[in-house]
Amino acid sequence: MPLLKAPHQISVVEAAPPKYLTTANVNLRKGSGTKHRVILTIPKGKNVPYLKKKGNGFKQNIKGAKKYSSTTYAAPSTKTPGTYVKGVLIVNKKYKLPATYNSGEQKQARKAVDAMIKKAKKDHVRLTAFSTFRSYDRQRVLYNNYVASHGKKQADRFSARPGHSEHQTGLAFDIGGANSKHWAENSFAKTKEAKWIAKHAHKFGFIIRYPKGKEKITGYQYEPWHLRYLGTTNAKKVKKSGKTLEEYLNLKG
Ligand SMILES: [Zn+2]
Repeated sequence: MPLLKAPHQISVVEAAPPKYLTTANVNLRKGSGTKHRVILTIPKGKNVPYLKKKGNGFKQNIKGAKKYSSTTYAAPSTKTPGTYVKGVLIVNKKYKLPATYNSGEQKQARKAVDAMIKKAKKDHVRLTAFSTFRSYDRQRVLYNNYVASHGKKQADRFSARPGHSEHQTGLAFDIGGANSKHWAENSFAKTKEAKWIAKHAHKFGFIIRYPKGKEKITGYQYEPWHLRYLGTTNAKKVKKSGKTLEEYLNLKG
């Protein structure tokens, strides 16, 4: 006797359009590329249909209309210790972190730096994050060594006192290029890698934290290699303002 299923038990599997799970907030734009206006932001963890991959994002079909997306990188947690101004963690010569805060790189920031390195590679630019998280104790040793070799006044221009280094936040990355002789050197500014960073880092949520000619404000000399993770939204705003983070948030360095 043939096994027959009642009609209500039969499920028809329809060919579904391909969908992608968003692993970060995704901006849906009018056109392809970040110069186009954002129509809506799809939150992390949603299934979205797409038509085809296009550049950094996807050409999408939402409610029958063709739209474009690009990945954004979320702002870091505001639950870690330290001083927050308008939701941004501030570590500089005035604001410090407790010696006990020792959490390593923040995952979100690492994801963004990896994506940036990957994109640069596609543009034939080789980037390396040669110095990232630094503990309070490690910074103490470094700073004391610099004071011994350069004197306190000079050391304070390029090295942070323990608790005052952005590297302790897990949100700072020193980026170098193919030639390590330019790493953490002024000569890095002229390399194609530094130019690529200056042009693209904000799309991945990073700002060049110590810009040229702003030592009086930031407390540090120009460091074209030191990137600080803010998340895409804030990084874009800070870049567009042309200001240092201190000026942008209206506080003292
Ligand atoms: Zn640095």
